Amino acid sequence: MENNKFEKPIYVTRPLLPPISDVTGKLEEIWASQWLTNNGAQHQSLEKEIQSFLKVPNTCLFNNGTIGLIVAIQSLRLSGEVITTPFTFPATPHVLTWNGITPIFCDIDEQTMNIDAGKIESMITPRTTAILAVHVFGVPCDVAAIETVARRYGLKVIYDAAHAFGTEINGRGIGTFGDISMFSFHATKLFHTVEGGCLTFNDSDLKQRIDLLKNFGIKNEDEVVMPGINGKMNEVQAGIGRSVLTMVPDEMKKRRHLRDIYNVMLGSVSGIRLQKEISGVKDSYQYYVIRIVADEFGMTRDEVYERLQPFNVFTRKYFYPLASDYTCYRQIPSSARDNLPVASQVVQETLSLPFYGGLSEEDVRKISSLIIGLQGR
Ligand SMILES: *Cc1c(COP(=O)(O)O)cnc(C)c1O
Repeated sequence: MENNKFEKPIYVTRPLLPPISDVTGKLEEIWASQWLTNNGAQHQSLEKEIQSFLKVPNTCLFNNGTIGLIVAIQSLRLSGEVITTPFTFPATPHVLTWNGITPIFCDIDEQTMNIDAGKIESMITPRTTAILAVHVFGVPCDVAAIETVARRYGLKVIYDAAHAFGTEINGRGIGTFGDISMFSFHATKLFHTVEGGCLTFNDSDLKQRIDLLKNFGIKNEDEVVMPGINGKMNEVQAGIGRSVLTMVPDEMKKRRHLRDIYNVMLGSVSGIRLQKEISGVKDSYQYYVIRIVADEFGMTRDEVYERLQPFNVFTRKYFYPLASDYTCYRQIPSSARDNLPVASQVVQETLSLPFYGGLSEEDVRKISSLIIGLQGR
C-alpha cells in the first residue's frame, strides 16, 4: 500500500502558470502606460481575445464571475422568482438572493447532471421571470428545450457557464445561447486571470448597460445614471490573463489525452459511471468527474474519497451539498427532497478526480489503479 502513495499531495487541479518572464513583460507594459484599471489597454485587448476565443459577438470583463452574474441579473431587470438548479456552486443561487429574487430549485437530468428542461414548466408561477441554468462540468444544458419553454412563457435565460470556457455545440460558442452567459476566470478554472470573469451576449444594446452597471453607473463627469457596482477587471488581472490564454489550447490537448487514459482504465469498472459525451459537443476539459454507484461498486463515494487520502490523492465531492440543503435555502418549498429525487441521488455519487496538464500519464494510471484497487477491500 505505502509504495503506491504519491510523494506529494495531488489535488483536483493546479493553476495554469505562464513563464514568469511573460508576466513581467506584461507588467512592464502596464507600468509604462501608468494605467492600472478602468478599461486600460490590457483590458481592451483581453476583451477582444476572449471574444474571438469564445466565438461570441459581445464580451464584458469582470473582477470575478459572481459579480458578473449579479450584474447580468440587474441588466435584465429580473425580480420575483428564478428557476435554477440545486446541483451547482453556491454563487449560482446566491446571486439571485443578492438581487432580492427567490431561487426555485428544479431537479436535474440523470445523464448530464444539468437542470432537467422537461421539469422547468412545472416550476413556473406568475412570479417567475427567468431561468438560471448551469452547464455543469462544462457539459451543455439542453439549450433548445430551455429556449422553447422560455419563449412560451416569456422568460429570460441566463447561463452560468463558469465551467464551459471553450465548450461549443456544432461549432457554435456556448456563450451565444440564452440572453447572457457568465464565464469564471478564477484560478481553479482552466483559463484564469487569478480572479475574474466575463459576460457574453448576442444583444449589442446590452453592452452599454452592462459596462455602466460594472462602473457605478457613471456615464460621464456630470451624470450617474443607475445604481451600479464596482465590477471592473484591473490591468494586472487582464495582463496575466492574456499570458494564460496563449497556453489554453495546449493545456486542453494535454487534458484530452489524460481524459482518454482515465476513460480506458475506469470505463468498464462495475459501479463507475463516466460523464456522457454528447455528439457534436466540443468539451471545455474543465473537470474529470466520475460517479460511484455504491451498490455496484461495493463502496460509497464518501468512502472512496476518504480512502484515497492516505495515498495523497485529494479528490472533491463537487457539488456536495446541494444548494437546496443550505440552511439559507432549506425552507423554500421547492427545496424538499421529493421535488429533487435525481439531484439527491447524484450528489451522493459524484467524485471529481485530479485533472490538469501537469499530471503525467503515469500519475493518471496510478490514480485509476488506486480506485480500482479499493473495490472489494
Ligand atoms: C467558479 C464558479 C462560480 C464563481 O465564479 P467566481 O469567478 O469565483 O466568482 C460560479 N458558478 C460556478 C458553477 C462556478 O464553478
